[in-house]
Amino acid sequence: MILSSYSVALASAIHRKAAEPAYIAGLPPDHVMRRNENVFAFAISAASLEVLQMLMMVVAPLGISNPGEQTYHFVPGILDVTQPRGCKETCLYPGLTAKGDHSGLVVIGRHRQAEKAQETLRVAHLSRNWRYRLADTVERLSERAPRRLVTKR
Ligand SMILES: [Zn+2]
Repeated sequence: MILSSYSVALASAIHRKAAEPAYIAGLPPDHVMRRNENVFAFAISAASLEVLQMLMMVVAPLGISNPGEQTYHFVPGILDVTQPRGCKETCLYPGLTAKGDHSGLVVIGRHRQAEKAQETLRVAHLSRNWRYRLADTVERLSERAPRRLVTKR
C-alpha cells in the first residue's frame, strides 16, 4: 500500500533538505533519498480520494453518499467505479458501524511493554518537583486550547 511507505522522518528530511543540492550530492549512493522513488504523487492522490469520499459520505450531494468502489489506474488514467453492492447477510461490518470502542472487539490487545513504559513515565512524573509538573500541565492544557484565527487587514 502506498501510504505504508510514508515515513514522517523521511518526509521531514526531504522537506528540509530537498532544496539543498549539496546535501543530496553528499549522500551515499545507496541512500533512500537517491532511489528516485516517486510515491509522493500517489500518496497525495490517495489522500485526496479519501478526503473526497469522506466529504461525499458527510455532505451527500444530490443525495449520493456512497459512489461505490472507486479504483484509479494511473496507466491509462481511468477511474473505475462499481455500483455499491451492499453487504452480504453474513457480513459483520454493518453491526459494528459507528460503535468504536463499544464494539466489544479487541483489535490489538494489551501491550505490556507500553503499559510498563507508561507506568514508568507516570511514576517519574509524580516524583518531579511540583513546579515542573505544573509547567507540564500548563503546556498540555495550552496545546488543547482552541486557536484563534488571526486575520490581517
Ligand atoms: Zn460488508
